[in-house]
Amino acid sequence: MAVVELREVHKRYGKTAAVDGVSLGLREGEFFTLLGPSGCGKTTTLRLVAGFEAPDRGEVWIGKERVDRLPPERRPIGMVFQNYALFPNMTVFGNVAFPLRLKRLPEGEVRRKVGALLEMVHLSGLEDRYPKELSGGQQQRVALARALAREPKVLLLDEPLSALDAKIREELRGELKRLQREVGLTTLYVTHDQEEALALSDRIAVMREGKVEQLGTPKEVYEAPATPFVARFVGAGVLVAGEAREGRFHRGRPWPVRVAGEGKGYLLLRPERLRLDPEGFLEGEVRLSTYLGSLVRLEVEAEGLLLKVDLSPGPAPGVGERVRLSLPEEAPFVKEVA
Ligand code: ADP
Ligand code: MG
Repeated sequence: MAVVELREVHKRYGKTAAVDGVSLGLREGEFFTLLGPSGCGKTTTLRLVAGFEAPDRGEVWIGKERVDRLPPERRPIGMVFQNYALFPNMTVFGNVAFPLRLKRLPEGEVRRKVGALLEMVHLSGLEDRYPKELSGGQQQRVALARALAREPKVLLLDEPLSALDAKIREELRGELKRLQREVGLTTLYVTHDQEEALALSDRIAVMREGKVEQLGTPKEVYEAPATPFVARFVGAGVLVAGEAREGRFHRGRPWPVRVAGEGKGYLLLRPERLRLDPEGFLEGEVRLSTYLGSLVRLEVEAEGLLLKVDLSPGPAPGVGERVRLSLPEEAPFVKEVA
């Protein structure tokens, strides 16, 4: 049974269909991510689960209970927002204790629980600080501890890392994953950052204009994108228009690439799957070479296409050099959906 389930949920603001017929179910203990560009309806979907919005149509379930007409405080959720949203006039201790005191737990138990929660998010010793005396990363840990204090059935996280610097973001991302695994808490996560989604999730729903365009594991979404939109949004790569015939890709002539499918569509060429190869199928010219430390990314113009090619660090051809590229034996073939 799903821990959280949305059934054909719709939500409009005036003319905008913010959520346009979304159905999905989260499994027990799952890290589930809504991924998509700004404005695609991620936050609205999360707010419908949290209870800050009611759907125009459709149903929201948490466990065995239909919740879409319940106020937020009656739903078994904990939520963390992008911009911290701590109580500024309360200490770290006060913030985390707040939901426990609402439940009228005895003060001794409040102290014990807050202590355990702060230890879990590595903030022991900072009980008496105020939010403004903390870094962004620390504030987000407090927000997480406060969300966990409610002992929710579901943790809702709306871009909780996006306001942080790259280094802290990656650090906290790792910790979030570790913590979620340890606690085994069903988590609904929202992000526009495809790398974050791939790194954290058990499954991802890629959203576009209020609809779920693909639902799958990170590997499925990356290696077998269902639509050109998903292919462009997740990972780097170039879509080459052509045709699949008898298991091979054709662009005028047949290419030495196996594909699944038939008819018109796009071959997805990921930078890590292309190789420099003197015997390669395509010939082209290097237009741009970018040193990225762990790799060198080339842009090669070949047959009217601008292809990206990742090389391991080391000697790389310079701009203007002629090169040949070998193609992967097999690659994703993506069709426009009607
Ligand atoms: P995301 O979180 O993916 O960026 P949102 O769910 O915030 O997207 O927004 C989806 C769409 O709904 C956007 O077009 C946004 O402008 C619109 N929208 C969201 N909230 C409101 C609101 N309170 N009033 C009017 N329009 C809104
Ligand atoms: Mg949002």
